[in-house]
Amino acid sequence: MSRYWSAIVRGLTPYVPGEQPKLAQLVKLNTNENPYGPSPRALEAIRAATADTLRLYPDPESEDLKATLATHFGLRPSQVFVGNGSDEVLAHAFLGLLSHELPLWFPDITYSFYPVYCGLYGLQSRLVPLAADYAIRAEDYLPGPGGRAGAIIFPNPNAPTGHALPLAEVERIVAGNPDAVVVVDEAYVDFGAESAIPLVERHPNLLVVQTFSKSRSLAGLRVGFAVGHPELIEALERVKNSFNSYPLDRLAQAGAVASVQDDAYFQATRRQVMATRETLVAQLTALDFEVIPSAANFIFARHPARSGADLAQALRARAIIVRHFNKPRIADHLRITIGTDRQCQSLVEALTELLRG
Ligand code: PMP
Repeated sequence: MSRYWSAIVRGLTPYVPGEQPKLAQLVKLNTNENPYGPSPRALEAIRAATADTLRLYPDPESEDLKATLATHFGLRPSQVFVGNGSDEVLAHAFLGLLSHELPLWFPDITYSFYPVYCGLYGLQSRLVPLAADYAIRAEDYLPGPGGRAGAIIFPNPNAPTGHALPLAEVERIVAGNPDAVVVVDEAYVDFGAESAIPLVERHPNLLVVQTFSKSRSLAGLRVGFAVGHPELIEALERVKNSFNSYPLDRLAQAGAVASVQDDAYFQATRRQVMATRETLVAQLTALDFEVIPSAANFIFARHPARSGADLAQALRARAIIVRHFNKPRIADHLRITIGTDRQCQSLVEALTELLRG
């Protein structure tokens, strides 16, 4: 705390990202990165963009990338916004679309950046409890005797549970709240959930946010995007152009375009992650873990006989890092990122030993 800090900074509770330890031989299953590298075509495009032209500013509108994404999803470029990671896209949405008189509704157990943005931008929020099985219930988000939401945001699949809401249920929430913007944060959708992107043509209040960090293995490049009605996109552009005109550098724009164009690589790696997940779920279930059905590149699991904190610590002593949240309702769970088959095998071997001992 310093007397030079603004009142806003004094009141912030910043997000704490999963750690990035600099240890060799670490089995790093804590931040939902993809264990496979980016598309070789993306790497080649980034190398080609590493040239004298870096002295020039990048295209502030990322027009190639927007056009590439629009073609990929069967949309118009005016329905696409791109930003420096989906966190930045979300931040702009909080300021530009989710901040209203009535509170923003989101699940009580969800991505912990949402309350942080509420703190930064002064939004009121209402936490909507997940069901006992950790599912989001569409009916809890509809206007009722308790009032209606000023706006709504939830991840699908949800984080850190991995639980996916079927598309028809997502549409119930969107259609049931025509006066509120609904943001569906699809950071993990490519690992087995249904994207709401096909709904944007029918619902002018729907914004879908995705990232290149997970299924496209480009967390280090920082590229995220949103799709929705051109008026929603315009709100994000207005915030962006009041904040940073050049959020995506030349390397990021080039790499992201090439990544979208390499669909074969995208399909192969996301399928591999899903196959490894199913093997891991079966192995953990055999060790008596309760695993929430996951449509993401991570699983959320608890062991009836061992606390989440103890297990996370014991794994760490064996150079295996998973994520543990010391929060109500989920303090006994571990969030485990799906790594390679070999990394997951090391995890299962370590847990087998720990539970025996
Ligand atoms: N949404 C959710 C639900 C996430 O878990 C993450 C990753 N921490 C993000 C958005 C942001 O990812 P990125 O900024 O890397 O696109």
